[in-house]
Amino acid sequence: MRLILLGPPGSGKGTQAAKLAQTFCVPQISTGDLLREERAGATALGKQAAACMDRGELVPDDLVLQILQVRVSKPDCDKGFLLDGFPRTVPQAEALSAILEALGVQLEAVVDIEVPDGEIESRITGRRSCPVCAAIYHVVTQPPKTDGTCDRCGGALTQRSDDSAETVRNRLRVYHEQTQPLIEFYRATGCLHEIDGVGDPAAIAASIREALGA
Ligand code: AMP
Repeated sequence: MRLILLGPPGSGKGTQAAKLAQTFCVPQISTGDLLREERAGATALGKQAAACMDRGELVPDDLVLQILQVRVSKPDCDKGFLLDGFPRTVPQAEALSAILEALGVQLEAVVDIEVPDGEIESRITGRRSCPVCAAIYHVVTQPPKTDGTCDRCGGALTQRSDDSAETVRNRLRVYHEQTQPLIEFYRATGCLHEIDGVGDPAAIAASIREALGA
């Protein structure tokens, strides 16, 4: 199974991607996570990406495509993968089509999780994540059992530097301008599934599985 998960920042994409990757036994590839790894490793690419990420802007297509191409060529992607946060621009989607064609494989589904901007802003500033195992929480809707501590591994939860209210508004503007046009791009391919992303995460996961016939 090769699929893409689209949706604005804070739509629950990461949470749903983790569930779906388990359902289909494929790796979850988040370009945001890959870029954060590059930053943490202080690589040349990570340093170039850092300023754009902190402003809530997109990292240039050529940098993101470099890390994506390396990642999808790894052996664990032979039987499929789930892309989370990629593509984010029409040129990235076009480049992905070319990469898949060169690998001789096809995209089977694109899932778009839809959430209104107002809901996103209130959700995202409460988001916390574990820097050790990447588990995601929310201070109100999905709190850890012990305040500030990861249930899974005991790591100290942190807020991402780009989850501040001002950066979130910028990320939403960027999403509408640059990423939303992908919905039309993939609608034309006939493999787009549009899912209402407001409500209980388990119910949303069930709607996605139903849409995909899983
Ligand atoms: P995310 O974790 O998916 O919200 O991504 C965090 C940040 O990484 C974004 O705000 C962008 O600055 C950058 N980023 C992640 N994926 C991409 C992509 N496909 N294209 C450009 N920038 C990206």
